[in-house]
Amino acid sequence: MLAGRMMAFPLTLTHILERARTYFPTHEVVSRRPDKSLLRHTYAQIHARSVQLARALDRLGVAKGTRVATLCWNHHAHLEAYLGVPASGRVIHTLNLRLHPTELGYIASHAEDEVVIVDRSLLPLFEKFRAEVKSIRHVIVYGDDGPVGDGYLDYEKVLAAESTEGYVFPELDENDAAMICYTSGTTGNPKGVVFSHRSMTLHTFMACSADCLGVRGSDVVFPVVPMFHAAAWGLPYATVMSGAKLIFPGPHLDAASVVELMAQEKVTLAAGVPTIWLGILALLDASPGKFDLSSVRSMLIGGSAAPPAMIEGFRVRHRLEVMHAWGMTEMSPLGTVAHLKSHMAELTDEQKLGYRSSQGFAAPFVECRHVDESGKILPWDGVTMGELEVRGPWVAQSYFGDDGADRFTKDGWFKTGDVVTLCAEGYVRITDRSKDVIKSGGEWISSVALENALMSHPAILEAAVFAGRHEKWAERPLAAVVFKTDKTATSDELRDHLAQSFAKFWLPDEYIVVQQIPRTSTGKFLKTKLRELYGDRLITG
Ligand code: AMP
Repeated sequence: MLAGRMMAFPLTLTHILERARTYFPTHEVVSRRPDKSLLRHTYAQIHARSVQLARALDRLGVAKGTRVATLCWNHHAHLEAYLGVPASGRVIHTLNLRLHPTELGYIASHAEDEVVIVDRSLLPLFEKFRAEVKSIRHVIVYGDDGPVGDGYLDYEKVLAAESTEGYVFPELDENDAAMICYTSGTTGNPKGVVFSHRSMTLHTFMACSADCLGVRGSDVVFPVVPMFHAAAWGLPYATVMSGAKLIFPGPHLDAASVVELMAQEKVTLAAGVPTIWLGILALLDASPGKFDLSSVRSMLIGGSAAPPAMIEGFRVRHRLEVMHAWGMTEMSPLGTVAHLKSHMAELTDEQKLGYRSSQGFAAPFVECRHVDESGKILPWDGVTMGELEVRGPWVAQSYFGDDGADRFTKDGWFKTGDVVTLCAEGYVRITDRSKDVIKSGGEWISSVALENALMSHPAILEAAVFAGRHEKWAERPLAAVVFKTDKTATSDELRDHLAQSFAKFWLPDEYIVVQQIPRTSTGKFLKTKLRELYGDRLITG
């Protein structure tokens, strides 16, 4: 065997940080504050501040490998932690500010967080679980209104005490941990996923490749997706590596605030979960011509299924392109992107929408297969449903601690828990989370397919389909629907609408009108809650 003769140059995030200072020192990072004013930093400043943060952690005696948690909205200081913490050999742990304090206490203790960087506005939340976390040694408060109390350090003062000159980041092994992120876990305890420098760097290359997210230097990138949700889908690192302009929304995530900032800063690539974009579509429909979004080349939507009616609504009514992608925290998170292949250019709009509203096909180096309950590999025929399994260089091979070993197969695949079909072209279509699957009389019914169809009805803003218990059929589908303002429809009308596309036994037994659909901390429908509230009504009447 002849060995390759190339350098074993380490794939670390440090390179991405240094590169930004060297090549893009004047390019901007814009953060919107809680009072909606904008803070502007250059990459040279972000680099300098990341150095100061690294030095401050040295001074505080924070050892290499130690977890430094963030409890923050999306803003420049969070980016400084994304860069300075791993580049200095520590591990950033992004805490999800939408979780219950009990869960946060569990997660921060499990990760053994020693330092916490917390937004001033989130201190009341932090105080609710701080006492639970025995490992915490330092709390650094970010935010600019007034002095911090005893027992806290002030982020700006901590940084100001350190020099920006002459710091050399330590040499790291590319397999060292860079970040820990916990899964949102609607059942069981959340599980820690530990990204390495290497996995994050490879994921960044992929995010920048044209046929994935295609992040490039000329972009103005706007991660509305929180930085605590699967590393904001890798966008901060991809943006810094390419030298693109980065816009952070801070805490204002309502449709009007998001769209205003997009128009003002001429965003080209925005990213968030479907809920955000459903609100934006409703706003754009209601105020034609008010917002100039002509700079936007793509809106990346993932985290849960983007309804085809929304994708088409943006394209037809507002000339905005949706890029639908699927991923998981365990996959850093990008797995598949729903681009059309070059030979699909001649397809009809409807056929194109079929592919673009699927979850897409695998990114390079991500491998997919789907299996039945006995582990048998299933055919890619577009109809056979099975659990999706994946492997690749940015897919977890185990969780932090001893949790969840049953999610990893003996032959080296990760069991996603998503029930899918795969078509001959390799496009994945998620029909359900395995725990949300509706099994009626032994047949599987796809709640996602029913939801997408319901959301194409003109009166419906949102719909979630879930399993109701049934004496004869074991389970039957029930639908919870939210109507658009001033719109309504009868159950018969909704049933007729669905009957055009689905077999009779798929049609929900009931349509329950609700004000809003309960959601998880990362914006997914919380079907356990729907089942808890309404799941027994077919039995109890
Ligand atoms: P998380 O780790 O919080 O990102 O959650 C990952 C899960 O979100 C996946 O296993 C899917 O069930 C769901 N998910 C993510 N993206 C999509 C998508 N584009 N369509 C449908 N479900 C999605």
